[in-house]
Amino acid sequence: PLVVFSLLLGWKHAIPILIITVSWRLGMGGVGAVPGVLFGMTLPVLLALLFHKKDRVMPKPLTLFMIVMASWLISDVPIIFLVPNGWELFDEIHLVRMLALQVSAFILYFFINLLSREIELKRKLRFYAERDPLTGLYNMRYFESRVKKVSSQRKKYIVMVDIDHFKKVNDTFGHLNGDTILKNVAQTLHKIVHPHKSLLGRYGGEEFILLLEAESKENLMNIVSDIRSGIESTSFYADNQKLTVTVSIGVSELKDPDHLYQAIEKADNSLYASKQNGRNQISYAI
Ligand code: GH3
Ligand code: MG
Ligand code: MG
Repeated sequence: PLVVFSLLLGWKHAIPILIITVSWRLGMGGVGAVPGVLFGMTLPVLLALLFHKKDRVMPKPLTLFMIVMASWLISDVPIIFLVPNGWELFDEIHLVRMLALQVSAFILYFFINLLSREIELKRKLRFYAERDPLTGLYNMRYFESRVKKVSSQRKKYIVMVDIDHFKKVNDTFGHLNGDTILKNVAQTLHKIVHPHKSLLGRYGGEEFILLLEAESKENLMNIVSDIRSGIESTSFYADNQKLTVTVSIGVSELKDPDHLYQAIEKADNSLYASKQNGRNQISYAI
């Protein structure tokens, strides 16, 4: 277990586990305690840490086999030199010891692999259930469920953000470039609103929805203004060509989280007003 955990988790986990195991072994006492701790625990852990990779990938079975083999040699060869009649003892136990170490390592390997796959699957399921795959922002279903759970003393607002003339981007640079721009606009929006109490989702197409909490109307206007100017001043690229993207924004107050769609309708009407008035601007329905 020490070797497998060191390989998989690295020193931050391996060293505390080693300290606990070493303390336990020293506490048990006996003549084998010190050599056991040194050759049977510490050196194999240090060896395994040399093969640890940062991204926690499982080693290939052959690599694991070789590392466990080397750990066994480090652990048991000293018996030949340090114990009276060491060679006979080594000869007597080496096969069982080697097999026991390999089998326990591979049983652990099997279960850890199984568990990691399950964890990864759950992570993916959760991602696709909650998020829009292109932008990584919340999808509407999840956004709606989160809105209902927000409880705060501060006023809440719904902000609808729609990219201006996005059809032109698609027509000029193609749908794939359009997708990339959409993704980058989503990232820029996330960067701007992330420091504030907010929920950001993709409403559909090239329209985004934001639930924003603000201390005052002035505070709200500042944040929304930062969104508009932040997108306008960011450089986006399609086919290595720099382009400017602007957004039109509509804002409404969310008076009752159970009536989200009423607030969305109001914000959408304001958004329409922003489009009518020439785009790249903000309209408030509050
Ligand atoms: P306006 O300023 O009035 O909003 O003009 P617009 O062209 O942005 O508006 P319109 O609603 O007419 O068109 C939106 C376009 O966005 C049409 C559609 O092809 C594009 N679009 C929607 N979703 C996606 C997407 O996921 N990827 C790409 N590449 N384009 C998308
Ligand atoms: Mg648009
Ligand atoms: Mg639109």
